[in-house]
Amino acid sequence: MSIILKNINKFYGKTQVLSNIDLEIKKDEFLVLIGPSGSGKSTLLKLISGLEKVSSGEIISKNPLNNIALVTQNYTLYPHMNIFDNLAFTLKMDKLPKGEILKKVETIAKKLHINNLLERKPHQLSGGQRQRVALGKALIKNPSLFIFDEPLSSLDLKLKIEMKLQIMELHKQLIAEGKDATTIYVTHDQFEAMSMGDRICILNNGKIIQLDTPEKIYSCPVNKFVAEFIGYPTMNFITGKLKREENQIRFYPNDDFFLVLSSDYEKKLENYINKHLILGIRYHNILLSDYFKGNSILSEISLIENNGENFYIHFDFCGTKFVANSNFNPNNNRCYFHFDMEKIYLFDIGTEETITL
Ligand code: ADP
Ligand code: MG
Repeated sequence: MSIILKNINKFYGKTQVLSNIDLEIKKDEFLVLIGPSGSGKSTLLKLISGLEKVSSGEIISKNPLNNIALVTQNYTLYPHMNIFDNLAFTLKMDKLPKGEILKKVETIAKKLHINNLLERKPHQLSGGQRQRVALGKALIKNPSLFIFDEPLSSLDLKLKIEMKLQIMELHKQLIAEGKDATTIYVTHDQFEAMSMGDRICILNNGKIIQLDTPEKIYSCPVNKFVAEFIGYPTMNFITGKLKREENQIRFYPNDDFFLVLSSDYEKKLENYINKHLILGIRYHNILLSDYFKGNSILSEISLIENNGENFYIHFDFCGTKFVANSNFNPNNNRCYFHFDMEKIYLFDIGTEETITL
C-alpha cells in the first residue's frame, strides 16, 4: 500500500513540530526516517497511524489505514499470558475459529524462531526473544502497513544486528509472498538507516532535509547537516579562504598552507574567491603516504584506532582534528596525509548548503 503526505503541518499549542511535510511512501517500500531526538519522527508516525490529527495538510492512502502494525521500543506483552496467548490475543478478539488461530500462531512462531517458546511466560524469555514475540504480534494480522519506532534501540549490539537482519528478511519474504510489506522505520542509528532503507528521509527541526536512496544520501548530501549526520567516522570539516593564484583555485585553511581544488570547480566558485567556505572530506579520502605528492600535509599522528580491517588515523590538520584511513598500522608517528581533491565537498559558510559542481 502506498501513502502520500501532502503539505503536513503539526502544531502542539503554538509550537510547530512538523513543517510542510511532502512525502510519498511507495508500495512495499522500506522507508527509513532518521533525525536527531526531537526532530519530529514519532509525531510523524503518530499522524500516519491516526493516533494524532494533522493541524493542516492531507494524508492520502488507497486503503483504509486501519490495519497498521506498530512496533515500538517499549513493546508490551501481557505478563500473565504465555507466548501463544500473547500472539493469539488479537485473533481471539476478532473471534477467529480456533483451528485458524492455531495455524496462524504456528506459522508466525516458526518464521521468527520462537515456536519452542510458546508455553513460556514473557519473563522467562530473553530481551531478544521478547522483541521477536512483539514482532510476531505485529505480523499476525497481515497488516497493510508496518510502522517501527526505534524498535531496536534498547537491545545490545549483537542482538540489534540479529533483529535488524530478521526484519529485513521478513520484509523480503512478505514481498515474495505477495503480502503488504510497506514499512516506515524510525531510527536515530545511521548504520540501521543506511543498511535497511530503500530510501532514507532525514528530518531536522520538523522539516525534511533530504529524501533519497542511501547511496545518494551518502555521496551527495544536500548540506553540511546531512554530510555530518551520515557516515562514520564523521566527515572532516575545516573552514578556509578561497584564492585564485597561478591559474589555480586554492583553499587556504590558514595563511601558510593550501590545497588545490579541481579545475571543475572553476566556474562554480567564481563568487567565492577571496571568501571563506567550508571544506569537507570523508576519512577514506585522506590517505597516508611516506612522501609529498601534492595536496599533502606532513603531520603528527595523534591517535590510532584499530578496527580489525583497517585503522582510523587521527591527526591535526591546521588546528582542526581530522581522521584518515589506513590499511596498515603506520610505524612512524609522523607522515604525509594526502587529500583526494576529487572527493571533497564544499559548503557555503552562511547557508551550509552543498556547493555542487
Ligand atoms: P522524535 O521522535 O524525533 O524524537 P517527537 O516527534 O517525539 O521527536 O517530538 C518532536 C517535538 O514535539 C519535540 O520537541 C517534542 O517535545 C514535541 N512534542 C511531542 N509530543 C508532544 C505533545 N504531546 N505535546 C507537546 N509537544 C510535544
Ligand atoms: Mg521518537
